[in-house]
Amino acid sequence: MDPLERLQDRPGLRLGIMGGTFDPIHIGHLVTAEEALLQFELDEIVFMPTGEPPHKTRQVASPEARYMMASVATATNPRFWVSRLEIDVPGVDYTVDTLDRLHAECRPEVEFFFITGADAVLDILTWKEPERLLGLCEVIAATRPGYDLGRLAGVLADLPHKENVHVMEIPALAVSSSMIRERLAQGKSVRYLVTEGVAALIAKSDLYRLPVAQSQGGRDPGHG
Ligand code: NAP
Repeated sequence: MDPLERLQDRPGLRLGIMGGTFDPIHIGHLVTAEEALLQFELDEIVFMPTGEPPHKTRQVASPEARYMMASVATATNPRFWVSRLEIDVPGVDYTVDTLDRLHAECRPEVEFFFITGADAVLDILTWKEPERLLGLCEVIAATRPGYDLGRLAGVLADLPHKENVHVMEIPALAVSSSMIRERLAQGKSVRYLVTEGVAALIAKSDLYRLPVAQSQGGRDPGHG
């Protein structure tokens, strides 16, 4: 059962939607979700891996692989869930369409908080119907401390509901998916940067093109 079916009838729910490609999911994402729960007094977080991510030009791991990694990474947290909603919808996923669908399926008083990277939010004007999106949810833009977000005020200046965008600094976001992919491609350790289960899945499925010597030699990518 998709977690949204389980949660949709909960009265007064404050629901975090963690949007991202999660290629792969790492500890920065998990810390971000936990911090959003605390700072915004959310009840649950639903991780929503993209199916076909908008604007992506590089090769991305399959939606099923990213869904599997997100499920394994979040399994031990009773307030973290993973939804297939965007994965199962054919074609490009637009956040405004996802929020429309969530509003249609949940009770009217449910409040949605869309959590994603600040870099992605800086491009919000290129997203589908950004004005309407900000009327459907609060947006939490997660960033690492010290990252220059000076451009954000200008980006949001003409948008109605711009007060619905919040910046949240997360030191653990010094970790990034691109850093993990690069390390794996170079045969370097990703131990403690991803959960043990995710490291095992990556090794088992030979994701991110581990060098042949490492992927066939039985070494876990968590080992340095
Ligand atoms: P991205 O460009 O791959 O990521 C931009 C930055 O944000 C990266 O530094 C990334 O780090 C970080 N990031 C992404 N998701 C995060 C999360 N949940 N928490 C913390 N940091 C995060 O962005 P993307 O993954 O393609 O898109 C992010 C979300 O925005 C998705 O849900 C996507 O559907 C939505 N989006 C919608 C539209 C639209 O509606 N037209 C357009 C663009 C994006 P990592 O690589 O380490 O994650």
